[in-house]
Amino acid sequence: MMAEKPLIEDYEIELEDPACLPGAPVYAAKAHIHNDVSEVMPYLNAVFERARYGTDNRYIIWKEGHRAYALRPHELAVSMIWERQQAHEFVQKAIARINEIWERRDEITPDYTPKTKPKVLDILKLLPKTNCGECGLQSCMAFAAELVEGNRFAEDCPPLAEDKEALARLEELGV
Ligand code: SF4
Repeated sequence: MMAEKPLIEDYEIELEDPACLPGAPVYAAKAHIHNDVSEVMPYLNAVFERARYGTDNRYIIWKEGHRAYALRPHELAVSMIWERQQAHEFVQKAIARINEIWERRDEITPDYTPKTKPKVLDILKLLPKTNCGECGLQSCMAFAAELVEGNRFAEDCPPLAEDKEALARLEELGV
């Protein structure tokens, strides 16, 4: 029997330079995926504790180790990349993980339970609220809104790295 084709095979990687995020010490990488991979999301939701899953397979956001991941139908974003050369390695590892879960889908009960989006104001309460701009946005409020949408990760706010309690609380809220 022929081996099944991996779910994610064709993609291009784009690296968001820290120059776009003044003061931010890390890169974020995006893989633009050629095919629609939304079918895997309920399986990822079943595997990853505290994943934030949007109804109708619109997105899923999860963490493994210190790194955060956001998958949309045609895009995977990976946070916390310290060196340009690491981008391919971390994106490839994340894609291998997603492909592996997809291959095992017959053994996994898909979880279609959406996790409600946290409120922007609840997120804002946990941010430094200095509006320092190091995340590349003009205010902590704007950053909170981007976190809720999964367009940024908590790690994109350098001052937040010092506040382990706030980071843990944000993780509980799924951002
Ligand atoms: S979220 Fe606020 S404190 Fe954090 S980097 Fe952005 S502006 Fe600064």
